[in-house]
Amino acid sequence: MVFSSVFDVGTLRKEFENAGISSQFIPIIWKHVRQKPNSELDEVPSLPAPAYPILRSKFKVMTSSLISATDSMDGLTTKLLIRLQKGNLVEAVIMRYDPRLGKYDGKPRPGGQRSTLCVSSQVGCKMACKFCATGTMGFKNNLSSGEIVEQLVLASRFSDIRNVVFMGMGEPLNNFTAVVEAIQIMMGSPFQLSPKRITVSTVDHLVLRWQSVETLLSGLYEIIKVGIIHSINKFHDTLPNVNLAVSLHAPDQDIRCQIMPSARAFPLGRLMEALRAYQEKSQQKIFIEYIMLDGVNDLERHAHQLGKLLQTLEVVVNLIPFNPIGTFSSFRASTQQNVKLFQKVLRGSYNIRTTIRQQMGEDISGACGQLVVNLSEQRSTGNERLLADIEDLHI
Ligand code: SF4
Repeated sequence: MVFSSVFDVGTLRKEFENAGISSQFIPIIWKHVRQKPNSELDEVPSLPAPAYPILRSKFKVMTSSLISATDSMDGLTTKLLIRLQKGNLVEAVIMRYDPRLGKYDGKPRPGGQRSTLCVSSQVGCKMACKFCATGTMGFKNNLSSGEIVEQLVLASRFSDIRNVVFMGMGEPLNNFTAVVEAIQIMMGSPFQLSPKRITVSTVDHLVLRWQSVETLLSGLYEIIKVGIIHSINKFHDTLPNVNLAVSLHAPDQDIRCQIMPSARAFPLGRLMEALRAYQEKSQQKIFIEYIMLDGVNDLERHAHQLGKLLQTLEVVVNLIPFNPIGTFSSFRASTQQNVKLFQKVLRGSYNIRTTIRQQMGEDISGACGQLVVNLSEQRSTGNERLLADIEDLHI
């Protein structure tokens, strides 16, 4: 029998409504589950009597289970392999930032160790970006809001999670409803994450699904324009103050199409118009992700192209060192020298705030673009805490 997660809030709310139970009791259930993930729903205190048979017959404390937790050698990154109820596997990654490494007005950053959780929103991904391991899996399934929130519950056993980024497996905005529900839960009691500490990363292809019929029937160009603007506006209207990160990865359409095949349908100029409109409306800065691929998009002229493209927006560009993933990809990582020069051009010539992403979790394939469920790799990883027999798994 398939149960729903108690974090599948739409389902739970509907069941409670039908039984005349106030949805105000739902956060009490979540608080209990968060504190005692191994308990039974019968043990949740102070609920109205009719709530218990509903919970018992249709819901589970946790529908996902933790299969393994793999620590990187430096202990700063932990990759969680999680089995969903129907047998699919996803990964989530905890990244710990040591405050002594960062400086804050010349002093160590206050507030102790900060942990960021990178969550998955889909099993696999249909976008097939050529530099990304997840893209090689193809699309298998959307996660429910409950399955997304359960990643946070599981990760909280290992670290105090302060930030959540939707940069794991999948294109989050292609699973819009579940992602929105999950974020709303994370922002409410008992998780209380600030929207400013949540970032949703999109490759901007999300309009494909919503607009495909119209695209076939009428003028491609205008529909695409409306689609992108509509989608980004919808994101802002639904989740104000949540950060938007856009995976740009190239300063022109040709290179973009070369490394992100699904970008073919979406002209870069139209994306920039959409981002401009979004920023005017939201007054929020936009995070631009840019993966550094040797000889492909990392030359000085590319930095100037990118600078010109972005100079009228308020953005933070995050340069991401490429992580080679076995033999599937022909790309190579940019040299440190090229990455530094790229940053210098964006900062010096265009006054664009530019950071270089700290590499974390390379040795456990938990780094950016490396998330792919790979059982043979899981078996061979050295510093691993196996919580179940990996031989029992089936994808
Ligand atoms: S980079 Fe993101 S959108 Fe592209 S294939 Fe990987 S998971 Fe999908």
